[in-house]
Amino acid sequence: MVCMDRYYLPRGMRYATLKERKRFYTEEFSLPKVHEWLEQVRGKVKFAVVIGRHTKIYPEKYREDAGTTIIIDEYKGLDEVRDYMTEFLPEAAYYDRNVYDENDRNTGQELAFDLDPENITCPIHGTLADKMRRNQGLSFCNLELDMVKEQAASLYEHLETQFSNMKIVYSGRGFHIHVFDPEAYALSHKKRRQIARKVKEKGFKIDEWVTAGDMRLIRLPYSLHGLVSRVVVPVEKGELEGFDPVHDKRCLPKFLGGKAIS
Ligand SMILES: [Zn+2]
Repeated sequence: MVCMDRYYLPRGMRYATLKERKRFYTEEFSLPKVHEWLEQVRGKVKFAVVIGRHTKIYPEKYREDAGTTIIIDEYKGLDEVRDYMTEFLPEAAYYDRNVYDENDRNTGQELAFDLDPENITCPIHGTLADKMRRNQGLSFCNLELDMVKEQAASLYEHLETQFSNMKIVYSGRGFHIHVFDPEAYALSHKKRRQIARKVKEKGFKIDEWVTAGDMRLIRLPYSLHGLVSRVVVPVEKGELEGFDPVHDKRCLPKFLGGKAIS
């Protein structure tokens, strides 16, 4: 039996504490893996963090900036990016999909698709509007997680007819599909909007703002999703079906002690 009152997140997913965020970014945040990911991305990368907008968990000295999106665009190397992480201890870390030239002019954008479980219409919990009415707009259940995984797989297959260089990332809640084809970087804003609309018409519940490019930040792979205590990880298309983010070791930060339920 499902109890509506307790509907919040799949069992074992919870907010990370400041101490846990600190431990993650000090001991676990993998700069080689981040580097490897960013090699596919063009231009000089800008990062961004949100310290405590949703969790309301933040270092006291950053109280005033806790809800702000802080852009990190001045750094010498990834070591320095990690220093920012251990200083801010953010609930969320992102990178900017816009491509910039030496003069900071925007010359293109990585194309991306964002599928979130809360957008799924659940046979038990209803539509996003139903969830919002109950103040559960960021909540999701295992069933929604499974359904969003199926959507990610079939959206990937749909996009394969147009693009050849794509990656799937488990975002901590749902999935992102990143497109690295050169033609995709060059798409106009209008064309992106059309792609977003067409994908929606096909029944995929994507976040149109991400695909159209109005929302240019995307969660940084290998960072910590502080609302669910999961590591953001790329997942191969072939392993998607069997992928279980509640238990998969790759997305369990060490502070959970190797157990999904802590
Ligand atoms: Zn549900």
